Amino acid sequence: MRFGIISDIHGNLLALESVLEALDAEGIDRLICLGDVVGYGPDPIECLDLVFDRDAVMVIGNHEEAMLRPEIAKSFRDVAREAIEWTSRRMRALRPDLIERIEQLPGMIYLESDLMLVHDSPVPGGRRYLVNEAAAGPAFRGVDTSICLVGHTHLPGCFRHRGDDEEGMVESRSGSPRASVELETGARYILNPGSVGQPRDGDPRAAYAILDLDDHEISWRRAGYDIPAAQARTLASGLPARAAP
Ligand code: ZN
Repeated sequence: MRFGIISDIHGNLLALESVLEALDAEGIDRLICLGDVVGYGPDPIECLDLVFDRDAVMVIGNHEEAMLRPEIAKSFRDVAREAIEWTSRRMRALRPDLIERIEQLPGMIYLESDLMLVHDSPVPGGRRYLVNEAAAGPAFRGVDTSICLVGHTHLPGCFRHRGDDEEGMVESRSGSPRASVELETGARYILNPGSVGQPRDGDPRAAYAILDLDDHEISWRRAGYDIPAAQARTLASGLPARAAP
């Protein structure tokens, strides 16, 4: 089974189209989306339609939740809050059916018996950013499969846990472009594909990953797209300038 893994698209349609085109060329069996399809960017409706049309296995992100529960939006920093309020107004006016679909999205999904998907962390209670070993170590408490896929940090990442020791055994590998990691049997992994629409690792190209369960391998990829055009779309839509990729 070969999964295409995407996360944190954030309404960036040009980035998403580029990634889907690359995944089509690579050939995958199923698309996994780890949430935050909306927020920041000008095309949340088009992005959700594309993800749903592809029959992606999807968990809810905190930006989707913020559309359903305004008290979450209030806790966001300014640019994220303004953007999600814009998104929510637009979607409720134009496509209330998408709000209903978002309401149905689960927070956690188990797949293929040994794979779990969640937006931020497998340990419930408060959104967490698994940015380094110190943060990922305790999160392994919640990983009861070999592989846990997360997004949320907008940073490609790989954390490996061997043995029973909670923190000392966690190692990280960065997902540099075209990097891949062979997944060892007996170890557990927290894997992050990075962000399609708003990467925060210094490489502005759209990030995604391919997980091959037969070859026991994950590969991180980048897809280029017209970033100035995406920035112009953000500004033209009346979103805050800082919401642009
Ligand atoms: Zn995000």
